[in-house]
Amino acid sequence: MSTKERTLTEPFKIKMVEPLKATSEAYRLGALRQAGYNPFLLRSDDVFIDLLTDSGTGAMSDKQWAGIMSGDESYAGARSWEHLERVVKDLTGMPYILPTHQGRAAERILYSILGGKDKVFISNTHFDTTRANIEFTGATAIDIIYAEAQDPEVDLPFKGDMDLEKLPLLIKQYGKENIAAVIITVTNNSAGGQPVSMANVKELRKICDENNLLLVIDGCRIAENAYFIKHREAGFENYTYEEIAKEMLRLGDAFIMSAKKDGLVNIGGLLTMKDEVLSVKCKNLLIISEGFTTYGGLAGRDMEALAIGLKEVFDADYLHYRIRSTAYLGEHLKAKGIPVVWPIGGHAVYVDAKKLYSNIPVDQYPGQALVCDLYIKGGIRCVEVGSVMFGKYDEAGKLIPAPNELVRLAIPRRVYTQSHIDFVLDVFDDILEMRNQTKGYKITYEPQFLRHFTAHFEKI
Ligand SMILES: *Cc1c(COP(=O)(O)O)cnc(C)c1O
Repeated sequence: MSTKERTLTEPFKIKMVEPLKATSEAYRLGALRQAGYNPFLLRSDDVFIDLLTDSGTGAMSDKQWAGIMSGDESYAGARSWEHLERVVKDLTGMPYILPTHQGRAAERILYSILGGKDKVFISNTHFDTTRANIEFTGATAIDIIYAEAQDPEVDLPFKGDMDLEKLPLLIKQYGKENIAAVIITVTNNSAGGQPVSMANVKELRKICDENNLLLVIDGCRIAENAYFIKHREAGFENYTYEEIAKEMLRLGDAFIMSAKKDGLVNIGGLLTMKDEVLSVKCKNLLIISEGFTTYGGLAGRDMEALAIGLKEVFDADYLHYRIRSTAYLGEHLKAKGIPVVWPIGGHAVYVDAKKLYSNIPVDQYPGQALVCDLYIKGGIRCVEVGSVMFGKYDEAGKLIPAPNELVRLAIPRRVYTQSHIDFVLDVFDDILEMRNQTKGYKITYEPQFLRHFTAHFEKI
């Protein structure tokens, strides 16, 4: 390199602080035992660096906090709703906008209408709540990404793309009348936070048109995805990030967003669509279960903050910092010899626990072991994305493992500084030293759906 790369600096300064408490390793061991070795069951006061999720954990800006104060709390037709509706119509180009309290509420409404026994949904990768909401209706959820993108090490620009060679085969196999929707998840959260190319969505639109299929964009990280398109896909160099997002969203028939991600708010969701008949069905369910159509389970102030966040998220300095700071963690881990999913995605770094803890068999959950070790060693909280989250059992009760055993280090938006991230890197030095002594885990309690949230474990 001819010029030295400068330190990545946060494009904001801090106006309010929240203290973090340091704890001892012995204390954390006790806390983790009490939590059944499931970090979801830890108290956040016992966590030092919380990388469990980037969902609803971001910091709002001074402008968003000002919006919180000026939010209109009227039950119907609130000013804050009008503001949000205007921003979302402009972003999506869709006429029917429904607010929900978070992404899965939007999913439950849309997929309970479209789903049901014998129905099939096809996605690049269904996110866990997406799959659960679909399977809860009795429908089947099928994931199709390109085989080469499933290799955690292959360096490809758009590993989130849907496999468009497989899609027509599935349409033929199940019959287009049985396919409830095609869902493109942007970026592809469960497959390493990898981006989806515009070319892939354009081609997908064509296939959906030819077969009269509904195309849903699960776009809770649509801004982060736009960053990758601008910097990796030919023809978009001179677009703004917002223009790229708008172009992609116009290819969909419906849009689902957990606003807790790129909405830059702590709670909120959106469901938008083009079809009026479908929108009436959705609105009826919204009113029964979420709230009236102009608030959908949100306070007026939440909608005000979201309307502002949906503009801020496309700021070029913010997005550059966001994507580069995630890459900073991933690139430095890789340099230490920690196997990470490559290239680094938008909102998280995924460590390949199967490779790092190669002494632990998959039915003893190497990802869960790494999650526990990171907490014990550094008070770092993160989540397993492997056979705890996606594993199934065969008829004999034997584990059908997930394709990968990953651990996700998700980065909350605008929350941690570079020195926090450097601390995380230091903790991985301890992990490298102890990795061969680590033992696996067994599950001692699990619920039927989304077991990773509440399961209990025991060390083997
Ligand atoms: C978070 C997320 C959801 C669910 O949204 P919630 O706000 O957590 O209910 C759905 N899809 C994707 C891709 C997500 O990342």
